[in-house]
Amino acid sequence: MHLHWSEERGQNAILFTTDEKRSDLVGEAYCLKVTPERVEICANAPSGHFYGVQTFLQLLPPEIYSSTTVDHVLWQVPCLEIFDAPKYGWRSFMLDSGRQFQSVDFIKRYLDLLAMLKLNVFHWHLTEGQGWRVQINRYPGLTQIGSRVAQGEEQQGYYSCEDIREIVAYAAERFIAVVPEIDVPGHCEAALIAYPELSCFAQPPESVMGFSPNLICAGKEENYQFLQQVLDEICALFPGDYVHLGGDEAPKDNWDKCPACQKKIKEEGLKDSNGLQRYFAKRLADYLRRKGKKAIFWEDVVLQDGEPLPDNVVVFWWNSRAHGDLAYRNALRRGHSVICGTNAYCYLNYPVAPWSQYDRSRTFDLKTTYEKNPSDLSDPDRLVLGMACCLWTDWHVRMHMIDQRVFPRIYSLADQMWRRGARRPFDVFYEILKSTYPRLKILGVDYGPAMAEEVPPGYQWE
Ligand SMILES: [Zn+2]
Repeated sequence: MHLHWSEERGQNAILFTTDEKRSDLVGEAYCLKVTPERVEICANAPSGHFYGVQTFLQLLPPEIYSSTTVDHVLWQVPCLEIFDAPKYGWRSFMLDSGRQFQSVDFIKRYLDLLAMLKLNVFHWHLTEGQGWRVQINRYPGLTQIGSRVAQGEEQQGYYSCEDIREIVAYAAERFIAVVPEIDVPGHCEAALIAYPELSCFAQPPESVMGFSPNLICAGKEENYQFLQQVLDEICALFPGDYVHLGGDEAPKDNWDKCPACQKKIKEEGLKDSNGLQRYFAKRLADYLRRKGKKAIFWEDVVLQDGEPLPDNVVVFWWNSRAHGDLAYRNALRRGHSVICGTNAYCYLNYPVAPWSQYDRSRTFDLKTTYEKNPSDLSDPDRLVLGMACCLWTDWHVRMHMIDQRVFPRIYSLADQMWRRGARRPFDVFYEILKSTYPRLKILGVDYGPAMAEEVPPGYQWE
């Protein structure tokens, strides 16, 4: 329906309209028109209106983001007319709540910031060697024991079913889908400490920051039942279309020695332990397919050739530092959808200057991510769902340190996820970015330096 407004109606107002005749106004697309008489945001889906509002807020003075009443501000915006639509349908931010635990309020604050940046997926890394953070009623030990295996500050805690439902609803109000990640068969020492019988040799492993060969045993049939029961509860908590099942960094030393794993390899006619991981991934993906869901895996599952994976598998291309675009090409060749979030330069935990275990080779600044990011594809394949960025919390990145990593570099990534057309010169982009700093200040975002040469001597990353 197109709304026609008489002179007296719709004056001095913000109008939300639809225009179904406009074929370009699909999904998240919107038109924003500001005239001396009115503001009109036209879209054919609620998310389009929402993004129109985000842009309108950006046109207003920074004080619009204040949480308290502000006097003496001229609430003025320029007259303009724009059409805007995203480059990618998938625009995600991943937070590692496994190694470090963040409060529900912290997560909600980040959902607000993601919405402002027009990101629409919150990829929530909920399980790690250092903590299992999601309540599973059938297996209470996962949180009672598994959320307390690391002893550092902000390393204990978990999200109750009620917390999860609150966060999922809060995200949905901002047109953000929450994608849970249950990382298996590696990175799950916390689960194995709670239930040692899940491991190959029924021994509780040590909780590690990185990764270890202590995997969930893929030979024991009862472990598939355990995982299916976990997924039943995860799917009930998270109504979206996707579940991330990890699959990264799983050294096969134990599987190679485990009688149950070796028996499974023989029975199923698999080549070796790498084949066993593909079998394991396939079974879980098939289970999700029966629930009408898609399974996301880190790229590790397509680095080698082998048994084909089901077509509901989506590949997360991450390790460009080690493998270039091998996973990206392999995934496309096998017909899988791809999410592009390479560790060069979408991993925002890599600081701008060296810190803790991050030496200079594991740093990057705004200019690098803007100009050299492999995930920023000028001509993406039709199977590319979109782009991602990640904030891992290894080496004890606590809540108060996260803003400094994420901001302002996430603007470059959000720009690459949303903006179509040719890239602007970096200096132009940087000037626009700096003009947003007053907004970040009002929002209470403790943003860090953007450029390596701007990091003051002795700058505190923590
Ligand atoms: Zn085993």
